[in-house]
Amino acid sequence: MEKAAVLGVGLIGGSLALGLKERGNVEVCGYDGSSQTLRLAESSGVIHYGCHKVADAVKDADYIFLALPVGATLPLLEELAAMDLKPGCILSDVGSTKGRVMELAASLPRISRNFIGGHPMAGSHQSGVKAARSLLFENAYYVLTPPQNGSMSQVQRLSRLLSKATRAKLVIMDPDHHDRVVGAISHLPHILAAALVNQVEGYNRSNEWFLRLAAGGFRDLTRIAASDPVMWRDVLMSNREALLELMGDWIREMDLIHQALKAGDSRKIESFFCKAKASREKLPDRKQGVIAPVFECYVDVPDHPGEIGKVASLLGEWNISISNIGVIESREDGAGVLRLVFQGEKDHQKAKRVLRSNGLTVIDLNEQEKGGENTK
Ligand code: NAP
Repeated sequence: MEKAAVLGVGLIGGSLALGLKERGNVEVCGYDGSSQTLRLAESSGVIHYGCHKVADAVKDADYIFLALPVGATLPLLEELAAMDLKPGCILSDVGSTKGRVMELAASLPRISRNFIGGHPMAGSHQSGVKAARSLLFENAYYVLTPPQNGSMSQVQRLSRLLSKATRAKLVIMDPDHHDRVVGAISHLPHILAAALVNQVEGYNRSNEWFLRLAAGGFRDLTRIAASDPVMWRDVLMSNREALLELMGDWIREMDLIHQALKAGDSRKIESFFCKAKASREKLPDRKQGVIAPVFECYVDVPDHPGEIGKVASLLGEWNISISNIGVIESREDGAGVLRLVFQGEKDHQKAKRVLRSNGLTVIDLNEQEKGGENTK
């Protein structure tokens, strides 16, 4: 049996390890900076066994996956390049940016031919091994960035293993192209969401109505501003060039609408929104993507004491776990007063069925976006 070492057993490393163990037909050894995480990964069956030293974990490994934050991946790659790895061992990572890691790997002759960058383009708003799922990457794109001097047979070997283990759609890309595309569809939106929240939070300091009135639309648009700051610091630092260019384009786009507004040019303002509406309507259906989906719905219960308890008990009776529950005070989207968030799609769908069959009005904004089914 071949051996795979997963370094960093968090959300992504843990999910990869589970897939490798369940479907990859390889022995999976884990390593993590935290011994508590390693113990949990072992006891919950995410890995076959754990090692407290990197050297022990990668000994005789046929595959090594680095699944750490991007900032920790680079020094670990240098450490690995100084070790005696098994001849032909393939190294890969899962980081959200590819240019810097590929550049570093190319400068390390002992591993340069066998380091194939990777980016599974699915995730979750949660982190850590507890959130790991064996099918997290199913049907999502998984980008591979092979080295220029590498061999095609190594790329095929890795693709075969990852297809089986993750059930993702493997695609090959140039690292700079990957960073520009992901910069535009994921990194730039994270910057904009955080900037918008910071701007409104600034206004809110002198007048608390700003955040009190912030409801559905603002919440949807800024959901990703709650992501892990350290991870996003590392992502931005490792994709600076592409992001500076993309932010320049963004500032120009803002300047155009700013000018139109200043000039009171209603035709330009309307065409700005028309163009965006037409493009937005052409977007493919919601599926696994680089920005993690949220499984939520709204329930229109009367604003009486005990109503929230009734909904929670009903879902409890059906064994549906709620990961978050909140009361929406301002309802600009016409959504219900109670916002429920679930761990995954299965609980989300089951909850809607149970609530509707008990006569409650349930609003799922994604259904409405698709042309909507009945809310009852
Ligand atoms: P995570 O859940 O926080 O897992 C990271 C794991 O690495 C944690 O167990 C952490 O241990 C460990 N770790 C951190 N620094 C370490 C070090 N220096 N030495 C050893 N172990 C260390 O994070 P994640 O979401 O899995 O992200 C991992 C990578 O996946 C990142 O590069 C990210 O860019 C990429 N990625 C993330 C997503 C996403 O949606 N989250 C999607 C695609 C790709 P502790 O227990 O000490 O924290």
